[in-house]
Order: sequence, then C-alpha cells, then structure tokens
Amino acid sequence: MGLVTYKGGNAYVESVSLQSLGERFGTPLYVYSRKKIQDSCDSLLKSFSKHPTLVCYALKANSNLSILKLIFDQGLGADVVSHGEMKKAQHVGLPSERIIFSGVGKTREEIIAGLHSNIFSFNVESVEEINLIGELSRQEKSKTRISLRINPNINVRTNPYIATGLYKTKFGFPESQIKSALAVINNFPELHLAGLSCHLGSQIKNTGPYREASKRLVHVADDLRNQGFPIEFLDLGGGFGVSYEGKKTPSLAEYAKAIQEPAKGRPYLLVVEPGRWIVAESGILLSKVLYKKSNPHKNFLITDASMTELIRPALYEAYHPIEACKKRKGPLRTYDVVGPVCETSDFLGLKRKFGPTESGDYLWIGFCGAYGSSMGSHYNVRPRAAEVLVDGNRVTLIRNRESTEDVWKNEILSEY
Ligand SMILES: *Cc1c(COP(=O)(O)O)cnc(C)c1O
Repeated sequence: MGLVTYKGGNAYVESVSLQSLGERFGTPLYVYSRKKIQDSCDSLLKSFSKHPTLVCYALKANSNLSILKLIFDQGLGADVVSHGEMKKAQHVGLPSERIIFSGVGKTREEIIAGLHSNIFSFNVESVEEINLIGELSRQEKSKTRISLRINPNINVRTNPYIATGLYKTKFGFPESQIKSALAVINNFPELHLAGLSCHLGSQIKNTGPYREASKRLVHVADDLRNQGFPIEFLDLGGGFGVSYEGKKTPSLAEYAKAIQEPAKGRPYLLVVEPGRWIVAESGILLSKVLYKKSNPHKNFLITDASMTELIRPALYEAYHPIEACKKRKGPLRTYDVVGPVCETSDFLGLKRKFGPTESGDYLWIGFCGAYGSSMGSHYNVRPRAAEVLVDGNRVTLIRNRESTEDVWKNEILSEY
C-alpha cells in the first residue's frame, strides 16, 4: 500500500501511527497525507507540461479548505459546480481567473456570483442556460466567457452511475445541436464562446476515450474557428482512473499523450479537471471496531464508521481496501465490515479477511481521500467526522468533529 506503511506490526501514515491518531482525535477520523497530495499535483503538472494545459482540480472530490489551499498553492485551478465550491476556492485565495464553473443546473444567483468574480469560463449545458447567462451578462454589463459542453456519446465502460458522456445522460449538447446553440450565443454580444468542453465520466481506466474526445473537440473547434468563433481552449474534463484494488491503470503520461497529441500544433489551451486522481489515495478513513458478531452464515465487524462517512460502497458497490491498524499473528477469518446505520447497504467491505481481531481495534479504510468526506451526510443524526492532515510527524486538525447539536442547529422546534 502506498499511503499506509507498517512498522513493528503497527500502521503509519508518514511518521504518525494511526492508533495514536485514533486515541487522540477519536473515530471515525479522516487522515490525509500532505506529501501525497503535493506529489499528485506535481506529477500532474509535469506530465501535462508538453502542451499548454490548465489543470483544474474538481472540488467535488474533496473540498476541505486546507486541502484546497495545498492544491492551489501548487498552481492548479478549480472546476466548481456550485456557488459554495466557488466561494471555498476564493476563500483560500484562488484567483477567479482560474475558476471554471461546470454543471447542468446553475441557478441565477450562482451565475451572477460567477459574473461578478469574472471567472475563467462557464461550461454551459443547455440553450436555456445560454439565454439566462446572456441576459444576466447584459444586465450586469459583463463580458462573459463560456464554453459549450459537448456530449460526445463515447462509452467509457465505467460504472453506469458515473458515465456522463452518453446521450442518455443529462450532460452537454450532442454535436447535432451545436449549430442551434451557436445561433443563440450569437444573440448576445456579451457572450464570448471561448472554449469547448466535455467530461466523459469518472474512473476511466483506458486512454482511448480521451484520444477520441480530444480529436472530436479539435475537429469541432477548427470548424468553429472557420466560422468566426475564435475558440481558445478545449476542456477534456476529469475522470482519470484510480485503482482501489491495486490493478494497473494508465500512467499520467499516457493520459496526457492521448489528450495532447490530437491538439499538437494547434493554438488551443487544453484544460483537464481531475478530482479523484489528485486526492483519492491521499486519505484514509480510520475507524474502530465496536462489536464482533457471527451467525451460522457470516461474521461481522461492526465499526463506528458507516455510509455517512463513506457512501461509495453503498452507492456504487465500490471496493475500498480495509486493514487492521495492528496486525496480530494467527489464522485469517472472513468478515463483512459494516457500520451502525440502519440500512442493509451500510457496509464498508464484504468478505474481507482479517487475522485475530477484537472489538476496540482500529481499522483503516484506504483510498478515501476522494468522494469520502465530500459525500458525507447526517443520516441517522450522525455528526460529521473530524479530519486531520499529516505532514511528516506533524498532525494538524483540519475539520472539527461535529457535536450532536451541530447536526440539528438549523432545525426549528415549532410551537404550532
Ligand atoms: C466530476 C467531474 C470531474 C472530476 O471527475 P474525477 O473522476 O473526480 O476526476 C471533472 N469535471 C466535471 C465536469 C465533473 O463533473
């Protein structure tokens, strides 16, 4: 395992023992490695350095302020899908000219906030949205850069819930509708069509779809340039694959080659929007075994972490490695690792093998840096977990554990 190493049978992230973190901060606890996040950003920037490329981190993967600061300090921009994400990026000091606003359902308030900040671009997804951004730009006397999100209908063989580049999904314009979208854009001198974008989905573990999408965007952009639309950038979205099971995935150099080669010699700035790839491996979820129980068919480890901290197993049947923080010698036994939430889908891992394990033991769940905390919820009135950042032997608390009262602080007890 890359992130967690064992010394004397005990698990460490960088130079800090996970057991000590559990004892100090309680569980469930998110633990991130500063070095791992910085290294990911570094490799991305290096791998994409052959052709001018703006790397925009997709905040939805993990938007903890301290993590954002780390990532933006490395020189990355941001891909945001809500006003909240935009505000967080700005709050940690990211210049707005490095912010791309994506998403099919931007509200009027969100668009106005983006206009006022003069962000890099709005990736637009429907004719009604173009009309609204156009009208608001006129009203705000703003010159607004937009890009058309193209739905290239490329099947990427990932989990159907995270495939976004197919006609049956809600995303983007099919190529056949570009012409009518251009006509609408032409009604608004305030709108500058600066780019084309697409996002094929997540967990794309082969480079073919990127090459195909890049070729198509280059082709469409060349065409638009000939028609007098000076396209400046092509945004290929995110989706670089991470192997939670330890299987081989394409290297960044391979993704970069597939995306950049079709644009070679062309005047386009390229944009990529990785989220998962940057943070997935950098974080683990630390939890404690509350109870062990067995029935004639199954053994269970019931942990204090659940689908409210990590919903990916319940949502996508996603696999995450799970290991004991202290490894004891002895025969292996097979367990389902489950949480306390009252749903059968509240499991973290099924049929996992552990050596001798007792209640009170700490377990770590790997690859939780992306779509872990950011998808956390209060279901079952569970307070959100604390988060810490490890840097060598230093530990910084980067999110307080919520109190129970925090969970209902916005509720109003009606007097009838
Ligand atoms: C989700 C998303 C991303 C990031 O996807 P990852 O798989 O985390 O890299 C990038 N761009 C857009 C438009 C997205 O919706």
